Formats: sequence, structure tokens, C-alpha cells
Amino acid sequence: MSSPLIEDWKRKKEKSSTENREIIKRLSQKKGKQLDVLADQVHDAVFKKIDCLDCAGCCTGIPPIVTKADVTRISKDFNLKPADFERQYLTVDEDGDTVMNATPCPFLLNDNKCSIYEIRPKACRQYPHTNYLDFSKNMRLHAPNAGICPAVFHILREIENRIRN
Ligand code: SF4
Ligand code: SF4
Repeated sequence: MSSPLIEDWKRKKEKSSTENREIIKRLSQKKGKQLDVLADQVHDAVFKKIDCLDCAGCCTGIPPIVTKADVTRISKDFNLKPADFERQYLTVDEDGDTVMNATPCPFLLNDNKCSIYEIRPKACRQYPHTNYLDFSKNMRLHAPNAGICPAVFHILREIENRIRN
């Protein structure tokens, strides 16, 4: 049984895209260090209540960007030439980014664990871009991500709650 926050998100996500965009519009007026510090605190609080192993929405729904440094690191671990790794696992998307060539991700295991967790792409480490004091830098990502990631959905609402109170 997944957490109540994930269940709540599942019930609301389909009808929440306008609301997500409106929250982002309001939060965009408050961009800056204070917002990033608050987002960082809220990120930690929400992830205490959500276990990614109950979700895997990012690993099943969006192919992560894979950088040259990621390719070097992962292919070395696989004992593959970087070009062979690229041929087997990567593609170029419509934005011109190099990404994993399949969803769910080829490295996602049945129990929602990542089989390359220690050496996973930087984009996987950074997702969902709501901490590391990077929240306001990634403003355009949060509304679409709230439809994929239950944590982002709740982080946006909790940030607004804390600003109000
Ligand atoms: S590499 Fe691992 S963390 Fe990244 S999308 Fe694939 S399974 Fe998920
Ligand atoms: S979508 Fe969000 S909550 Fe789900 S696994 Fe990814 S980061 Fe964790």
C-alpha cells in the first residue's frame, strides 16, 4: 500500500493541471533565495512521507537526459565502449537531448529499484528539481512534473500553505 500522499495525488492529478500552473504563476512572483530555502525544507518534509519505491513515476514516465559524463561512467561500469552503450540504450529526443531510449527505463527493476543506482545519470539524481536551492531556477518544470511526480504535486501546495501562514 503506497503512502496517503501518493493515493491523494492519484485521485487529484487528472484535474489539477490548471491549478498547478496557477500555483507556479503565484510562486513566480516570489522567486529568489527565500523561496529556494523554503522549497528545500518542504522537499525534505514531503519526501519523509513518500517512498519513491512505491512510485517510480519518473523512471516509468520520462526518459532521463544522459550526458557524456554519464555515458563514460556507466559504460565503464558495464565494460562497454561508450559508443556501444549509446547504441544500445540511448536516443535523441525531439528537443535534441540525448535520453534513455525506452520507458520504463531499461534499468528499472521489478521492485522499482534502479539497477544502476550508484552510477545513475545526473538527471535522475536531480529529479524532481525541487531541492538543492534550485527550485526557482526550474520553475517551468514544476507544473508538468506535478502530473508525473506526487512529491512535486504536494511540494507546490505545501510551499503555498507555508507562505500563507
Ligand atoms: S537510470 Fe535508474 S533512476 Fe534513472 S530513470 Fe533509469 S531506473 Fe530510474
Ligand atoms: S516521480 Fe517523484 S515520488 Fe515518484 S519515484 Fe520519481 S521522484 Fe520519487
